[in-house]
Amino acid sequence: MMLDRPVALVTGASRGIGRACAVELARNGFDLAVNYLADQAGALETVRLVGEAGGRAVVLQCDVSIHDAARQLVLRSEEQLGPVEVLVCNAGITRDALLMRMSEDDWDHVIYTNLKGVYNVTKWAVRSMARRRSGRIVNISSVVALRGNPGQSNYAAAKAGIIGFTVSLAKEVARYGITANVVAPGYISTDMTDNLPPDVKEALEGQIPLGRPGTPEEVAYAVAFLSSPQAGYITGQVLPVDGGLSSGFIL
Ligand code: NAD
Repeated sequence: MMLDRPVALVTGASRGIGRACAVELARNGFDLAVNYLADQAGALETVRLVGEAGGRAVVLQCDVSIHDAARQLVLRSEEQLGPVEVLVCNAGITRDALLMRMSEDDWDHVIYTNLKGVYNVTKWAVRSMARRRSGRIVNISSVVALRGNPGQSNYAAAKAGIIGFTVSLAKEVARYGITANVVAPGYISTDMTDNLPPDVKEALEGQIPLGRPGTPEEVAYAVAFLSSPQAGYITGQVLPVDGGLSSGFIL
């Protein structure tokens, strides 16, 4: 029975939004390839939660910013679980600084992880999707790509790049029955945002029409929908999950 479950690969799934996506996809009938960078214990906890949600999972270490490592990630996932039907490119980092003080390393690290990482993993996953004429790609951007944010020019550039990448890819692979979409979270309570100073958190919450941060699960519901058969006619789109923060912005 388990062998019939399709496979989803989620990058950066050892915590936060990636973990929530893995668990929600398991609830929706997928087995999971749980990618992590360094936190193996976190990845194993995701595996446990996926199991509780009815899915089978394997953990796969990989730095998505390294091209050949990403190729191995997809190959190992396919060897261990079967073809990747759903790819969620979630891995991401911040290295915030005002541009005049931003080091080349801060720039490169964010672009290589957040943008090149998406190219790296997607390139290898999409090949077998094309052969099978089936697949769903969901890339995690950010409302910062749409609105900008002081101190995050590197992050905003990478996240805006993900949108251009995904919209182009959607047009390339539609003929194979593959969809590619973007989810753009707003301010979500995770380890990434926990360290923000209290006054910054308060100011952010003040800008959100729904008046509160989102949860990783609320992002995961959108990712799971875009990964589902019911979303088969939606491609090349950007879905903000942000409590209304970006509403009124025309893409
Ligand atoms: P997080 O820091 O909790 O999780 C990010 C995950 O990515 C971690 O598991 C980390 O180990 C992994 N990762 C980092 N570099 C990696 C690499 N080179 N290779 C593989 N994995 C790597 O953050 P989160 O809040 O869960 O964010 C998940 C995604 O959502 C990120 O892309 C982030 O930019 C995006 N996002 C988050 C928010 C927010 O408010 N939390 C808002 C908008 C977008």
